[in-house]
Amino acid sequence: MSLYQHILLAVDFSEYHQDISEKASEIARQNNAKLTLLHVVDNLPITDASYGPIIPFDTDLTEQLMDNCKKRMAKLGAQLQVPEERQIIQLGSPRLEILGSAEELAVDLIVLGSHGKHGLALLLGSTANAVLHGAQCDVLAVRINHND
Ligand code: AMP
Repeated sequence: MSLYQHILLAVDFSEYHQDISEKASEIARQNNAKLTLLHVVDNLPITDASYGPIIPFDTDLTEQLMDNCKKRMAKLGAQLQVPEERQIIQLGSPRLEILGSAEELAVDLIVLGSHGKHGLALLLGSTANAVLHGAQCDVLAVRINHND
């Protein structure tokens, strides 16, 4: 029996993204489900201690980042055999874009890491925490082991 029809993998290309991606891909395979990859280019402003957010968003930098992400995404897509139309790159807040895409695509499972680029200090990373709280569907937070 298939438990899931459409799975959204939130990938941040941090150290552990391969393990998380392979797990999501295997769950999709076992359930004969579609797999969609999502990476969000974080649009946080660069903050200066004295002046606050001084560079709202540099367009050249954004383009460079986007190009880089497209290459990484294409590589991961090829590895997991996910077609181009299901490789999504969004600009914005990771938590909001993950939740928004999950609703828009009507996925029934979101797969992400328990932690990402922001370190292992908390029990759950802030993106993982927000997605677990806000999602309308199941969420699998793949455990990133502190001892690895
Ligand atoms: P965090 O809670 O930010 O430490 O990240 C936990 C997990 O959320 C990561 O392992 C990713 O699966 C996902 N995630 C975090 N940032 C992004 C992002 N910019 N784009 C897509 N997924 C992300």
